[in-house]
Amino acid sequence: MILILRTDAGEEEIAEVVRRLEAEGLRAHVSRGVERTVVGVLGHDTERAYALAALPQVEQAVPVKHPYKLASREFHPDDTLVRVGEHVVFGGQQVVLMAGPCAVESEEQLMAAAESVARAGGTVLRGGAFKPRTSPYSFQGLGLKGLELLDQARRRYGLAIVTEAMDEEGLRAVAEVADMVQIGARNMQNFSLLRACGRIDKPILLKRGLSATIEEWLLAAEYIMAGGNHQVVLCERGIRTYETKTRNTLDLSAVPVIQHLSHLPIVVDPSHGTGSWQYVGPMARAGVAAGADGVIMEIHPNPSEALSDGPQSLNLPTFERLAAELKAVAQAIGRYI
Ligand code: PEP
Ligand code: MN
Repeated sequence: MILILRTDAGEEEIAEVVRRLEAEGLRAHVSRGVERTVVGVLGHDTERAYALAALPQVEQAVPVKHPYKLASREFHPDDTLVRVGEHVVFGGQQVVLMAGPCAVESEEQLMAAAESVARAGGTVLRGGAFKPRTSPYSFQGLGLKGLELLDQARRRYGLAIVTEAMDEEGLRAVAEVADMVQIGARNMQNFSLLRACGRIDKPILLKRGLSATIEEWLLAAEYIMAGGNHQVVLCERGIRTYETKTRNTLDLSAVPVIQHLSHLPIVVDPSHGTGSWQYVGPMARAGVAAGADGVIMEIHPNPSEALSDGPQSLNLPTFERLAAELKAVAQAIGRYI
């Protein structure tokens, strides 16, 4: 349930609503929007808050029909801005260009990719140090050494870095170094890891699970937010369908659906979404056109020698040409990269 306050409600009147809710054993989440202030009610028995509709500063009590609350548009009518590093903001006019190798493999490989990201006008460097591989015999990532290399690349090229944490131990190490922590598709419903993300003060890039519905995905975001960390960016990376010509089916309709249901920024990953570098460009352009707040792509100085996800990685010149096209698409819809 949310309580919509009158536009002239002052700070003391807002505080009174919060006190009254807490006295009922409920939790309040106050969202001061441009238009109006909304108090979201959290707890087991939110029905108890209906009585507060009688207060003069409360205009209306409205039930929230979704099981997620903090992630819902009702609780927070304005778009949420998520800051990453010193210069990057998700959820505003900027479309954030994020790219890098699937896995950090070597200093040479990472620096070449980072240089290309910077040259293309990208602001976030991706790269896995801990890799969730389908087979236990595949390359598992460089671990801490990979984090060190990401840190060096950040300093050399002035980029923010995002990298995946696969478990709670890895989360501690990643959160110390990275500007943004990625939670991968396979871990989208790892609830203890999500709770741990809720306790840290770093933005989270929450990828959609391989077979997750949008509601399950938003509930995963809710786990993080319920722990106190509201800096969540959602990432559509394709879902598993009956189609086999692509690795996954990139659900671009998730972009407007998420923007309708939630205030959280959403980015698109056309690399995992298609699995083939030839399809990455068209789907990246489509993602920007659909209104995504960013695009994340895999690139490699020599894709044929990549230790993971080579077939879906763009080489550097192709990526840089695509970046120029994405800028034009962004501009066409009143945004910029
Ligand atoms: C990745 O970003 O390299 C990755 C493993 O992505 P996902 O979790 O979406 O499969
Ligand atoms: Mn990958």
